[in-house]
Amino acid sequence: MALRRLGWPVTVPQGVYVPDRVVRIAQEQAGRVLRSAWWRAEVTAALLATWPADPARRTEGEWEALRAALPDGGAVASGVLLARTRQIAAFQARHSRLPADVTECESAPGAGGQVVLAAADRQLATLQRCPEDPFRYAVLTLRMPLRPDPACRADWHPVRIRFRLPPHVPAAAVLRPPTLRVREGRLLLDVPYAQAVLKPERAGHRRAVAFDWGLNTLLTGGTLYLTDEAQPRVVTDARPVYFRATGVLAKADRLRIHAERIGARIDRLRTLITSRQERGMRPDPWLVAKLAALEAERDRVARRRTRLNAALAKAAARFMTDHAIAAGASVIYLEDLRDMQARGKGRTLNTRLSQTVRGAFVTHVRHRAAAHGIAVVIVPPQGTSKHCPRCLTEFRHHKAPNRRAAGWAWATCPNIACGYSTGRDNAAWQRIGARGLTHQHQTRLDRTAGVFVIRSVVEALDRTGTVQHQTRDRTKSGPTNKRPVPGKRRRVPAPPGNRGPTARRGGKRPAGRTPTHPRHRSRRWSRQQGPNAIGTPVRHQPDGARLGAGFHRHAHTTPTRGWPSHSPERSRTRGIAQETQAD
Ligand SMILES: [Zn+2]
Repeated sequence: MALRRLGWPVTVPQGVYVPDRVVRIAQEQAGRVLRSAWWRAEVTAALLATWPADPARRTEGEWEALRAALPDGGAVASGVLLARTRQIAAFQARHSRLPADVTECESAPGAGGQVVLAAADRQLATLQRCPEDPFRYAVLTLRMPLRPDPACRADWHPVRIRFRLPPHVPAAAVLRPPTLRVREGRLLLDVPYAQAVLKPERAGHRRAVAFDWGLNTLLTGGTLYLTDEAQPRVVTDARPVYFRATGVLAKADRLRIHAERIGARIDRLRTLITSRQERGMRPDPWLVAKLAALEAERDRVARRRTRLNAALAKAAARFMTDHAIAAGASVIYLEDLRDMQARGKGRTLNTRLSQTVRGAFVTHVRHRAAAHGIAVVIVPPQGTSKHCPRCLTEFRHHKAPNRRAAGWAWATCPNIACGYSTGRDNAAWQRIGARGLTHQHQTRLDRTAGVFVIRSVVEALDRTGTVQHQTRDRTKSGPTNKRPVPGKRRRVPAPPGNRGPTARRGGKRPAGRTPTHPRHRSRRWSRQQGPNAIGTPVRHQPDGARLGAGFHRHAHTTPTRGWPSHSPERSRTRGIAQETQAD
């Protein structure tokens, strides 16, 4: 409707009859494309107006100037800004000048061959559940032209499209007008559906789950509570949950490298073909055929990457939501993934998870959580892994618990009274959760992204957000229970010495299983000497999976714990034990 109000008409070719409703659909689609192009143009204009002296590193003042020049009051993810900066810098390197605006940096946006029926009314399209089998089938009735050049109203006929509903669509859900797309000669329908859910609250949360994104472990998280005191404290059971997707990320990485190689070969072939054409020669048919084959392969790889990323985003969203439900939490706190670059989490994760995939993660988890009335709140990422969650002293980061050399993975609190030592990600989720719970009243709804965000950190509030750990009470109150002897231990003495030339020497080996030489390929590594001494695997080992088969074999999560039967704050029973003063 915006285009109509602006007086931008849509022209229909001579002699072709197009109903006004179809014109409206085209306008709606064009409006969407133009809106997103306008936003990109505004961002690029702001970047060009405040172009820094060194594009690789903006000073504090240059960031301030850029934020002031941006649309929406500077609420643009810094990852987007850095990507756009690189785009402009690449243009500058090629042409030895800055681009005039966004049109020089990228080609014109396309509409992507789809029909958005959201702007259509009942005269043009109706969607109903099938009367014979309302739970499994639906019927879309749509007026469509019967010939490529419909000349009059009679050429537009209602067409009935009967399709199967996926099993996860609830029986009570209301189906909404779909979006139609054609891919490889098949009609695809994106059918949104509406169902009544609890409205997620932006504040007033007592129990939360928080997650941190990492490189080795994709997600690390846990549950945090606010106590019922006048001055509520943040308490955690300090039982972290993990989502490891090393195998999937490695696969995504291989596909990315493969796609880049194909892209380079396509570019080279195109140069060869065009150079011959420029000289007035016919291109080599063999090269043309090869180019076509490579382009088909590139499309296949692109689709595979899209599917893999979607599967990863959905699995991660499900993992986070399931843990939130199991913990009885009403909110999930996350960092803004798009800002991760600014935190120096490294280029590796940046290349592994593209901007789009990161956006998909947040979209999926928000969507999934919303169905259970759980809010998803994005927390500012500043310094979440820098400070100790228990006492807020600055951490010392080193390589591993037993390696004191400066590194990345492990964090130890230098405060002697605290002395907390843990993995970097494990500390970070506690800080994220504590920050979210103490800054609840600052939660705002970001209208462009549709997510709850906390935009700024109040120093004083952050200081009150120290996390106390509820640890299991391990004080001794009686004799230790007798432990059963493991069944595999040998009950008979070791065999006597045998001095034969071929037999193994006996009599000296400690009781235990007979060491066997590793037969399986995966055990032939030097650090895994045998079944009695298996080192901790440092690499992902798909269990029983063939290469490229089975997403679930390459992504591992901590199992979801059941619903807590009683509140841990009050509990003095075994399992969930009473609170202890950690600091
Ligand atoms: Zn500490």
